[in-house]
This record gives sequence, structure tokens and C-alpha cells, in this order.
Amino acid sequence: MKKPFVTLPQLEKIVQDYPTPFHLYDEAGIRQNVRALKAAFAWNPGYQEYFAVKATPTPGILKLLRDEGCGLDCSSYTELLLAQKCGVTGHNIMFSANDVPAREFAKAHELGAIINLDDLTDVDFLQETIGTIPETISCRFNPGGTFTLGESKEGFQVMDNPGQAKYGMTRQQIALAYQKLKVMGAKHFGIHAFLASNTLSNDYYPALARILFQLAVELKEETGCHIAFINLSGGVGIPYRPDQAANDIAAIGEGVRRAYEEVLAPAGMGDVALCTELGRFMLGPYGCLVTRATHFKHIYKEYVGVDACAANLMRPAIYGAYHHITVMGKEDAPCDHQYDVVGGLCENSDKFAIDRMLPKIDLGDLLVIHDAGAHGFAMGYQYNGRLRSAELLLREDGSVKLLRRAETPEDYFATMVFDDEEG
Ligand SMILES: *Cc1c(COP(=O)(O)O)cnc(C)c1O
Repeated sequence: MKKPFVTLPQLEKIVQDYPTPFHLYDEAGIRQNVRALKAAFAWNPGYQEYFAVKATPTPGILKLLRDEGCGLDCSSYTELLLAQKCGVTGHNIMFSANDVPAREFAKAHELGAIINLDDLTDVDFLQETIGTIPETISCRFNPGGTFTLGESKEGFQVMDNPGQAKYGMTRQQIALAYQKLKVMGAKHFGIHAFLASNTLSNDYYPALARILFQLAVELKEETGCHIAFINLSGGVGIPYRPDQAANDIAAIGEGVRRAYEEVLAPAGMGDVALCTELGRFMLGPYGCLVTRATHFKHIYKEYVGVDACAANLMRPAIYGAYHHITVMGKEDAPCDHQYDVVGGLCENSDKFAIDRMLPKIDLGDLLVIHDAGAHGFAMGYQYNGRLRSAELLLREDGSVKLLRRAETPEDYFATMVFDDEEG
């Protein structure tokens, strides 16, 4: 059901040059998926995907996406520098953040990025910081309340709580922001919203689009502003569990097109461009964490120790997130052993799987931990002095390219101050 994009013979060759653990990305899968996304929105002439850099901040990946025609969505000064180093500037950058320090707005402006304001107070702060208001500007909307989709006996298909989220402006505030920005010289406006995360539903984007399209029509009437683009942001999810069905991006694009034709086109707004800022959907399934079984322990439960830990992939530890595991070479063996698959951090949450039924694992087996391509390496840290691993790209021709070397103790010590010269 969930099949790794790499084979055991390929992996055995890779580990001769690169010791486990490492993150491995699938060039063919990434390219195919971007092309499917772009095809799904090809009906909208201005459509642009701005890949959410925070999901996978790796130059080799960002450049690959750039070459497929994607822009980048940045949220910090350093992410802006990273975009610049990858040759992405101007309106190919969307800058979306809250609590923004002055120098971040200045850097975004210097690069010519489209700035997406999170709060009404950001209007004056931006003017004070960069001395002007850019002609093209965007505002983030938060409708409040709860956002739900598709209620059934099993519950809601999608449920999230914008009313509890720190992002965006209220309905009144966004109208006020538009009016102020217009007076201050803005000419082309965007609307942005992110209402639910990791949605598994072809209806999320269309439902969000309908809300934003309706808002766009109202804001145009109320303020006379020219709405140039609407940003559906991120939130389209991936099936982490083998029994979940993947989103159908063509159906999603078609659902958004219907909303566009029913709401925007009749209002004479058939020229509005759409953008997305997908992260998880773009990379999640096309990256995995490769690790090796190194220890067994039998106490009150059966433990398999591996050479990766939560510092390499923290989603299971902090969200209890499910990540599928394939024991390489045993894909067809019966899953008749129950294990906790654990790393070596001094934290009991450092478990990639709890009570997971897997084939019998032998010492030295290679394990592929699936769907680690987004918010995987990116959330890594150095707790316990366990350092970040390498990142590798499996090229379309089967060769392997190093995207980032593994950290060494020297990297760990680089920021530390040793007062004596002994260190
Ligand atoms: C995190 C984030 C995204 C990407 O979200 P995914 O769930 O990975 O698609 C997009 N836009 C903004 C502003 C974000 O903070």
C-alpha cells in the first residue's frame, strides 16, 4: 500500500557512501507532483505556487522547485536570505509572517517580495519601517469561529479553529487595512487565509476559495480596491496512514474553478490570479528518513532501537503523528511482531512508532520512515547533542546527490563560547 520510492538494492548502495541516518528525497516524485498541481490550476492564467520554505529549507529542493516554476513563501529574515541565495527574488517571493521585526520587512522590501500583512497595526509599522507602501500588498484574513467540512457519523472531514489562531485580521480590520493602504499608495491587493492544516479532503480549497472570493467581491465594493490575487495558502494534506486516500489535486483545482466562476466571474472579477503556498503537499510524500535497526531491548515491551531519533523527525514525539515504516526487504513478510521503534534521546517521547505491527526485525535492517519530506528535517534540532543528519536527493536517473552534509561536533560547538583556549 505504502511503497518506498527507493529499493533495498539502491539503499544498500547509498549507505556505502552515506551512513544512516539520512533524509532522502525523490526528484521524480517531486517534479511529477508540481506538474500535476500546475495542471490543476492551469485554467487560471495568473496562478502561482509559492512553496512554503519552512517545510523543507534545503537549497537543492528550493532550486528544483524554482526550475519547475514555483515561487517561495518566506516567513523570516533568514528564509528571505535563503530565497535570495537560491536566485529567487521580486514577486516570486511571498513574505508572510506575524510579529515581524523591522529588519525583516526591510529585507522583504529590498528583495521586492510581495508582503502579506498579518495585522492592522502592520500597516503603519510597514510605512514607518520602509518609508513607503508598496504598490502590491496583501492582507491575511481570519474569519474567527470554527471551520468544519463534511460532517458524517465518523465526525468532521475537516475541523479547525481559526478563532483560536493568532494569525490574520478580522473582517472589519481587513476592510480598514485596505482603505488605509489605498490612501497610502497601494494599487494592487491580495487576500490570504489559512484555515485548516493537513486536510484530507478535496473540498477544503474550494470551500476556502468560496469564502475568500465572496470577501474579495465585498472588499472591492466597499473600498474600491483592485483585488489582484487571492492566496489559498497551505493546508492541503497528505495521507500519512496507509488506509487514508490521497487528495486528488485535479478535483481540487476543478472545485476551485467552479467557485471562481460562480462568485468572482459574475462580479466582473474574472482577472483575479490565484496563488497557493503549499508545503506538506509538495514535499511530504517525496522524502523519507532512512535509519538502521541497531538495538533490541525486551522489558515490559519489545523495543527496536534505531540510529535516528526525534532530532531528525520530531512529528511523532510532539504531535503523536503517525509515520508509516517499511522494513526494507521484508515488504511482503507478515506483520506479526509488535514493536516500539525508538531513538536514543533522553526523552520517552522519542518513539517513531508505538505498538506497531511490523515484520520481524533483525539487527542491521534498514527502515524507511515515510512522509518525512516536509516538516521533517526542517524541524530538526540538536537536543542531547544528537546532530542533524545529511539530506540526499535520489535523482531521476537513479544517482544520488548530496544536498546537505550531516552536522559534525564542530558545527555544534561553532556558536559556543569557551572562555579558555582548551576547548
Ligand atoms: C506553514 C505555512 C504554509 C504551508 O503549510 P502546509 O500545511 O505545509 O501546506 C503556507 N503558508 C503559511 C503562511 C504557513 O505558515
